[in-house]
Amino acid sequence: MRIILLGPPGAGKGTQAKLISNEYSIPHISTGDIFRKNISEQTPLGVKAKSYMDKGQLVPDELTIEIVNDRLQEDDCKKGFLLDGFPRTVSQAEALDSFLQQKGTKIDKALLIEVPHEFILERMTGRRVCKDCGASYHVKFNPSKVESVCDLCGGELIQRKDDSEETVKERLEVYSNQTAPLVKYYNEKSNLCKVDGTLEIEEVFQNICDILGSDK
Ligand code: ADP
Ligand code: AMP
Repeated sequence: MRIILLGPPGAGKGTQAKLISNEYSIPHISTGDIFRKNISEQTPLGVKAKSYMDKGQLVPDELTIEIVNDRLQEDDCKKGFLLDGFPRTVSQAEALDSFLQQKGTKIDKALLIEVPHEFILERMTGRRVCKDCGASYHVKFNPSKVESVCDLCGGELIQRKDDSEETVKERLEVYSNQTAPLVKYYNEKSNLCKVDGTLEIEEVFQNICDILGSDK
């Protein structure tokens, strides 16, 4: 199954992606996680990406499309994948479609996790993420069992620099201007499904499983 997760920052894409990836045994590919790994390793890609991410802006399409194309060529993506945070622009969506077309495949489902903007600030400022595996927690809505320690891998939980109030506002603007048009794009392809992201994490996951069904 080839799935993309759409939705504003803080909608719960990363949270749901971990659950879906586990349930359907497909790799979870988060462009944000790839960039953060490159930043922590101080690679040339990381240095370039950081300047955009710190401001809440999108990393340029050329860089982003290339890393996703490379990742999708890896063996573990042959049977399917789950893209989280990509595509974020219409150009990225077109590049993805043409890449998949060359391979004789396509996106099966685009899942839009809908959360009104007024929920987002509290979600993002209370978010804590694992430094090692990227798992996402929330101090109030989804706390880790042991404070500051990842339930999944034991890594340290940290607050993302771009989860500050000011940067979150910029990211919501960027979402409305550059990413929201993808809803129309996938609607026209008839593979868009909407999910209410304001429900409890487990309920959102159950609704996603109902949409995806038992195809694995
Ligand atoms: P995204 O990947 O879309 O930016 P995350 O999955 O990191 O979003 O979720 C953003 C924050 O909201 C995290 O702190 C997460 O624990 C919390 N969260 C995710 N889903 C829900 C939900 N259904 N209800 C309340 N909080 C949630
Ligand atoms: P995320 O982890 O998905 O919240 O992404 C964090 C940041 O990484 C974004 O605010 C962007 O700066 C950058 N980023 C992640 N994915 C993309 C993408 N598909 N296109 C451009 N920039 C991206």
